[in-house]
Amino acid sequence: MIPEPAWRRALDLIGKADEIALACHVSPDGDALGSMLATGAVLRAQGKRVVASFGDRQFDVPRLLRFLPGQDLLVPPADFPAEPELMITFDSSTPDRLGLLGPNTAKAHEVIVVDHHLSNTGFGTLSLIDPHVAATAVLAEQLIYRLGGSLDRDIATCLYAGLVTDTGSFRHASTTPEVHQMAARLVATGLRTDEIARELWDRSPFGYLKVLAAALERVSLEDGLVWTYVPRVDRAAYGLPYTELEGLIDIVRRTDEAEVAVVLKEDDQGAWQASSRSKGAVDVGSICSVLGGGGHHNAAGFTSHVSVEDTIAAFRALLPSRDGET
Ligand code: AMP
Ligand code: MN
Ligand code: MN
Repeated sequence: MIPEPAWRRALDLIGKADEIALACHVSPDGDALGSMLATGAVLRAQGKRVVASFGDRQFDVPRLLRFLPGQDLLVPPADFPAEPELMITFDSSTPDRLGLLGPNTAKAHEVIVVDHHLSNTGFGTLSLIDPHVAATAVLAEQLIYRLGGSLDRDIATCLYAGLVTDTGSFRHASTTPEVHQMAARLVATGLRTDEIARELWDRSPFGYLKVLAAALERVSLEDGLVWTYVPRVDRAAYGLPYTELEGLIDIVRRTDEAEVAVVLKEDDQGAWQASSRSKGAVDVGSICSVLGGGGHHNAAGFTSHVSVEDTIAAFRALLPSRDGET
């Protein structure tokens, strides 16, 4: 629960600001971008000057999120105010996760951090952080109501994208009665759940199938860890952007014989971005934190600048041994 004085202070800071700069984590997912765009639309409707961005070197909205309404708020990181009067961050546990926009948090006069990561470092001047909620979109909806805003279909579409992304379509343990109640409020605006599901999960360029085939060809199962990797040359052969690989971990993690799954994806700069998932017994969030990343108990990630073999060896060394000792 977020304490009432924190909400009151957020409303006060927002009320006083003329220009509000919104940022979410790099390579945004549905929760990061959806929460930011929904909040941005409400703030703009209330007469604020609003810009929104994310700090990727290559500033492209991932293809599967291009259907989200309200993207005219987006500016490339180069056009983001260097010293914003008020900055609000979404779904980002550290300034690092904001990429190029990380340094702006140190220069902003006030920074409201809206997030649900347990690993959040509390880097703002005001925290709206609740690790018990399923998605940052849950907090964005609460902020919208407290601002006196209401949900139209476009705003609800953004929030719904966040909710379904982070609950894995209402499959993860985070799917509480409150999550379904929120979904009911959003769906009541008339949004198209079928179209959103298709945009998010049920389409991809042909090249994805080829890259997927190569990744599955390389998959290994060792002592309860299933893992694979995708070098950038695989993607280059089909002109496939890095962000198209987001769903790969969901295929790999289905392996019955594995408790933990890892996918290493080489980004366009040559760094390995690791996605990890646990079925519950292992806290991959702590493991990834040790490796310089972060996330949740069952879903976490980190960035590696060493080889595939060394990256997996470092991850494996932090796994509890299978006979129960750590
Ligand atoms: P992903 O595997 O990219 O879907 O990410 C799963 C979770 O781990 C999300 O909550 C991310 O915010 C977090 N995460 C992924 N990569 C990183 C990273 N490099 N540093 C910190 N957290 C990360
Ligand atoms: Mn996220
Ligand atoms: Mn999230």
